[in-house]
Amino acid sequence: MAALSAARSGASVTLVEKNARLGGTTALSVGTICATSTRLQRAAGIDDCPDSHFADMEKFMGPLVERDNPGLRRLLVDTVPEAIQVLEELGITFMGPLPEPPHSKPRLHAVLPHSRSFVRHLETECRRLGVEILTAHRVTRLIQEDDAVRGIEIDGDTGAKRVDVQFGVILASGDFSASEPEYKRKFMSGPLLSIGGINPTSTGDGQKLAETAGAEVVNGDLAWGPEIRFLAPPKPSIVSQMPTGRLAARPLLAAMKVLPQWLLRPILLRFVTTFLAPSLRLFEEGAILVNRHGERFCDELNRPQDHIGEQPDQLAWIVFDDQIARRFAAWPYFVSTAPGVGYAYLDDYARSRPDIYATAPDIAGLAAKIGLPADALSRSVADRNAEISTSDPSRPLTTGPFHALGPAKSWIVFSEGGVRIDEKFRVLDKTRQPIPGLYAAGSAGQGGVLLEGHGHHLAWAFVSGLLAGRNAAGAATSP
Ligand SMILES: Cc1cc2nc3c(=O)[nH]c(=O)nc-3n(C[C@H](O)[C@H](O)[C@H](O)COP(=O)(O)OP(=O)(O)OC[C@H]3O[C@@H](n4cnc5c(N)ncnc54)[C@H](O)[C@@H]3O)c2cc1C
Repeated sequence: MAALSAARSGASVTLVEKNARLGGTTALSVGTICATSTRLQRAAGIDDCPDSHFADMEKFMGPLVERDNPGLRRLLVDTVPEAIQVLEELGITFMGPLPEPPHSKPRLHAVLPHSRSFVRHLETECRRLGVEILTAHRVTRLIQEDDAVRGIEIDGDTGAKRVDVQFGVILASGDFSASEPEYKRKFMSGPLLSIGGINPTSTGDGQKLAETAGAEVVNGDLAWGPEIRFLAPPKPSIVSQMPTGRLAARPLLAAMKVLPQWLLRPILLRFVTTFLAPSLRLFEEGAILVNRHGERFCDELNRPQDHIGEQPDQLAWIVFDDQIARRFAAWPYFVSTAPGVGYAYLDDYARSRPDIYATAPDIAGLAAKIGLPADALSRSVADRNAEISTSDPSRPLTTGPFHALGPAKSWIVFSEGGVRIDEKFRVLDKTRQPIPGLYAAGSAGQGGVLLEGHGHHLAWAFVSGLLAGRNAAGAATSP
């Protein structure tokens, strides 16, 4: 979005991407954006406005509210209607708006058919505008002369080279959830240090580059995680490979309005169960958590997500009997929340994600199916059953068939620490002065704005890209 916006504002733009293809965390996301005053809100007869959005965002922050950057929050709520309009004009289709209390109005716009749609449409428009796109090229250094950023060094298959910039560099390189522990340790502590990010290439390159130019990271200790999430399917699902144009998305939108849920759920869940988080209620009902050796390793009722990072291959499986399984078939006993369908139950996993669900008449059979040692798993279940006293609310796992969900990992979904910026998206140094020629957007330029709730991170990515691109190009084109 930053590249598109700068190009539309008249700048000559090069977009440098270290991975083989564009997408980053944006392409892994569920794809919900929280916005007011949109075409979809108006079509649904919802009377809403950025002021109300600004006030409601605070309801999600709890004690963190003191650490928010209200100036950036203001820009977010005021500009997200325009960002949605830009995306829709590119051909991106949304469903919704969906409610998410404590928002006072339905505001979640969910992309259809999936979040690659953002990337494909933005890339197409950038190419049409003449943006030079260099994939498989990593930015390794900012070149500063007379304190201003005058260029970057990039490294790709043809070796390292220097790219001079006349007016500005926008860092839009994502978060640092998958950075090395030594870097994370500058801000974070505890279990966050031993677990990885869902996006393994979110290594905080932008934050690190900006720091070399004198910038500082704000809210570096905050992250979504540790959070238990199932592994993604081994192969991309059919739905995630669906074309993303209106011709494909519109029929899906129409189908969502008319098709019965029993027909639609399996289709939607094939996509959205990627990276879904299991409800900790499974453990409250008596499910156990075991590692690759079939051994329990923690008290499942006391932040199990903090202990998976220390297990072999950092993997864990959730094991339970049929009494629990039957309970997780209907509200309020859901296995995961799942956008589009609301809640995913065990049947949904059985139908849509055979790669992470198994069942067998006995524990030994279950162990064979999920590749764990049968003796150890049987012992873990037996020991756990023996521990349960009659006064314990949990009950022993004795009723076959037995079930397992996993493997799951504990992840940092994303980190919240971005470099300090001003309201023109200029990166600030430690004395709060702009570093000439350096801008930041998205997670790299989060600047202390708190994005709690759903749909605010993508909202920030697109809003900050739109404004940073415009501002950088404005600086470029003004005399
Ligand atoms: C599973 C999951 C689900 C999510 N769902 C939602 C959701 O529904 N709604 C929501 O609002 N948020 C969601 N988020 C969060 C949201 O996706 C991110 O906050 C957002 O996509 C960040 O966008 P970005 O442009 O800052 O970074 P990215 O999309 O990660 O883009 C950064 C790009 O920069 C590249 N890069 C990094 N370093 C370099 C370098 N040195 N040289 C060149 N290129 C480099 C990266 O490879 C990457 O392509 C979700 C996140 C996850 C993990």
